[in-house]
Amino acid sequence: MRADLRETLAYCTNLPSLPSVAIRVLEIGRQPDVSPDDLVELLGQDPALATRVLRVSNSPLYALQNRCRNLQQAVLALGLNATLTLALSFSLGDSMRQAGEHSEAIDRVWRRALIAGTAARILAQMLRVPRREELFLAAMLQDLGVLALNAALPDTYPSLIARAATHDDLVLIEREALATDHGEVGTWLMERWGFPEPLVMAPTAAHEPQSVTALEEQRQFLSVVAISGRLADLFVSSRREMDTAVVAGFARQWLGVEADMLRAALDDVTEALPLVEQVFEARLISPEQAAAVLDQARELLAMRNLKLLQQAAEQQRRVTEMERSSQRWREKATRDALTGLHNRLFFDEHLEREIAVAAQEGQPLVLGFLDLDHFKEVNDAYGHDTGDVVLTTVGQTLRRHTRDSDLVVRYGGEEFIVLLPCTRLATAQGIFERLRRAIAAVEYTSPDNAVFRVTASIGIAAFMDEGHTEITQFDLVRRADRALYTAKQCGRNRVECADARVTI
Ligand code: GH3
Ligand code: MG
Ligand code: MG
Repeated sequence: MRADLRETLAYCTNLPSLPSVAIRVLEIGRQPDVSPDDLVELLGQDPALATRVLRVSNSPLYALQNRCRNLQQAVLALGLNATLTLALSFSLGDSMRQAGEHSEAIDRVWRRALIAGTAARILAQMLRVPRREELFLAAMLQDLGVLALNAALPDTYPSLIARAATHDDLVLIEREALATDHGEVGTWLMERWGFPEPLVMAPTAAHEPQSVTALEEQRQFLSVVAISGRLADLFVSSRREMDTAVVAGFARQWLGVEADMLRAALDDVTEALPLVEQVFEARLISPEQAAAVLDQARELLAMRNLKLLQQAAEQQRRVTEMERSSQRWREKATRDALTGLHNRLFFDEHLEREIAVAAQEGQPLVLGFLDLDHFKEVNDAYGHDTGDVVLTTVGQTLRRHTRDSDLVVRYGGEEFIVLLPCTRLATAQGIFERLRRAIAAVEYTSPDNAVFRVTASIGIAAFMDEGHTEITQFDLVRRADRALYTAKQCGRNRVECADARVTI
């Protein structure tokens, strides 16, 4: 995970938090000689939690032999571990739901979580995978990272969610935009909370369980989590037909589950949902919707050409992946590898468009050309690597001090261009003055501990301002370049405007 994102997450105060009951449940779980009485005492302190444990122990979900009348009986009947995990599920579920009250997309995460938990439990029962309650919890928490990212990046993350058509798509979009995904973030959060393995690994493994290194038993656990999320998608996402086939393909590949077994699992999930809704006091899906999902999935899974369908789905998945990766390549070709800023190639294409828009809308546009002063000396004195650090830092400074709609480009070696749309020359002068000061304010330390600073000279030119409407994109760059030359001539570390009276 990128260091800046980790820092944002670490200092974000409204991440899904671990409720105090959950903290104590985890503490109790870590004690080697914990007794049922300890747990009964803890649950007794939280009447709502106690009621739910009791309710679930008497729910057909558990099909216990005898009715439990009190907490002691429930803990004994469910078992210590199961009760601990259930208590965790309840308290965490509540804190996730609170986070989910903001938007429909986040609400969907919460519904997906509970349906996935249910599906995981049911699959575990069918496949005789041990630790069913832990599976419920792991499946429920697999998208914890979505809630964390949503809380930590309120300005950018919602639009990423909005762009994603499917869950897999969201993962790809996240990786592109944030160089991480919600799986990794979920694992990071659970590690911080001190959760045991393989719960911690579940969010990361949920998207590609084959790609993580794990013991065989853990792999089965993680694969159940992965399939559970995909089964939940059949209920909460809008694109279903292909998805059923994709899930069927993965279920066979990862767990050896054939279509008829998957169909039975889906039936059981649908049946269990009202009970889960009752226990978690949540509305997950209307019975009509559930019936529609089920009918469609059943039909698909019963089809004899299921195999063909799976192949088609697989092909479609590959095509989408290829489209994405070619988009990534295109993106890479227009970015500078060192600073991550857009490169000259991108700028040349972009400027033409910006000028056309400015002319059409009668909006001024200002271009600033920056060149670092005596940069060769920095390389000579402190080494090329330190020079690279300076270039990267200048790029970050420029980005930090400009709007998202401004374009910051690494034009060449130690030359940058900043394009400010909808900005008047007079305003731009102030902005570039601020940028100049910000660049000069940074202190660098060389490998041999010399402290130094770097300055920049800046030349700026405007389009559609000061009466210049006729100039072309080449003129604009040339005029800014000429102003930059003047800035160098006049002693460097300064901003110069292209002379408005110069005719082109
Ligand atoms: P002036 O103030 O006149 O601009 O002096 P200057 O030394 O900055 O100008 P000059 O154009 O002579 O030198 C630019 C230097 O930038 C030379 C080159 O080694 C360095 N440079 C270009 N690209 C990179 C890079 O990617 N990394 C590093 N470390 N240095 C680079
Ligand atoms: Mg230069
Ligand atoms: Mg220079």
